[in-house]
This record gives sequence, structure tokens and C-alpha cells, in this order.
Amino acid sequence: MTRRPYIVGNWKMHGTRAMLSEARAIDRAAQRHMKVEVALAPPYTLIHPIHREAEQIAVGAQDCHHAEGGAFTGDISAAMIADAGAKFVILGHSERRQGHGESDALVRAKAEAALAAGLRIIMCCGESAATRDSDKAVAFVKKQLKASLPPAEQMPAEIADKLTVAYEPIWAIGTGNAATTDDIAEMHSAIRALLVELFGEEQGSEVRILYGGSVKPDNAAAIFAVPDVGGALVGGASLTADSFMGIALAASEPFEN
Ligand code: PEP
Repeated sequence: MTRRPYIVGNWKMHGTRAMLSEARAIDRAAQRHMKVEVALAPPYTLIHPIHREAEQIAVGAQDCHHAEGGAFTGDISAAMIADAGAKFVILGHSERRQGHGESDALVRAKAEAALAAGLRIIMCCGESAATRDSDKAVAFVKKQLKASLPPAEQMPAEIADKLTVAYEPIWAIGTGNAATTDDIAEMHSAIRALLVELFGEEQGSEVRILYGGSVKPDNAAAIFAVPDVGGALVGGASLTADSFMGIALAASEPFEN
């Protein structure tokens, strides 16, 4: 793959304005790692302040509503986050699917809304521990991903630019137990085959597939060496510039995915 490795921090519900100094430090460090594309998805309240100051990193959101606007108390539309400076949105994170009952169909509707607002999307997928234990992980993830993505005819022309997939096994998120490199290799290869089937060889082979789930500076290099790993979606370790940029540093070493 010719695209730069993509390292995205998901701050989840962490961060007040006191965290802006950390975002600044990440932005400064990212300027020294131009071979890597570094981005942050802070809480909504920090999108605009980080966007205003950032010189290198892109800022995104962790979710958006599927409607353009209307009587949806407490929700936020794709156009609103774009207006605040977001360039991308994470969709279908397991914490949304599980904690907010988001179905594949809803995630797909959000993806369509985000793309229509000009945002890039990071589409998450991943199996539970029970699904993995019953040897159904690959089939589950392929089905979930296919049902969550808009079909090719509804995708913008530059699919590989607009779409990133993040494989995040639920049991690996925030647990300290990252998936093994063999499991990552098997799943990313299955996801790659699905993307080629859905979007054709030219686009499907260029979409970056991130791995997420307990990525840390000390396991990042091994994960990035796995075929078809195009970067990482990072939760806990993205909260400090030191650990997040340790991961970016591992990605700036040459790896051919
Ligand atoms: C995540 O929630 O997207 C994630 C990968 O979290 P962590 O890195 O903390 O496992």
C-alpha cells in the first residue's frame, strides 16, 4: 500500500480544556514525523479549539447523528462537526454499538450522512470474546462490516481517501490484551478481501485498515509489521503525547502495508 500509516487517537470521554496542552504537544511532535498521518478524535467540546491551533494533525469526532438536523435533543450532525473543524468521524465503535444499541443499519446511515457532509470516515468493526471463542470471528466481522458500509454506488469516487476501516476486537479494547499478530493478520486479510470485493481492486486495496485494541509503544512495531495493517486506532495510549507519539514513531519506521 502506498498511503502513509495512519495513527488516530480516540480520546473517548476524556479531556477538558486542560488537555489542550497535550494536543499541542502531539501536534508539535507530529511535525517531526511527516511520514505518518496523525489525527485526534477528542470529545466534541475540544474539536474546535484543537482544530484552531493544530498545524499538522487532523481533528475528528467520535460519532455523529444520521440526520442533517431536527428535533434530536443532545445529538450533533455531521455538518456541525465539520463546521467545528472536524475532517473525519469514527463510526460504529463497539462502545457505541454496545452502550447505545447502534445497529449496523444505523451505523451505515451515519456513514452516509458523514460522507455527504464531506467528512472522511473511520468505520469500526470487531467481535466479542464469545464470538472469537466460538471460531466465528472472521465471518462475524465481515458480515458486520459489509452491513455497516454504504454500497459502492453511494461512496464518493475517492473511496480509499474517504474510508478507513478499524478492526477492533472488543475483548482487546482497554484490557491490555492486544490481539496476537497472527489473529490480526488473519482478520486484516479477510477485511482486505471484502473491501476488494465491495469496491474493486484499485480502491479496495488502498483503503487503510487500522488495528485497535491495547496498542502501546512497546507492541506497536510488531503490529505494524503485520501485512495489511495500515496504522492504529488508539484509545488509552493516545491521552499523553509521550505514549501516543511513541506509537507514531514505531509507524514511521518503514513498513510496507
Ligand atoms: C479504542 O477504544 O478505540 C481503543 C483501541 O482503546 P485502547 O487503545 O485503550 O484499547
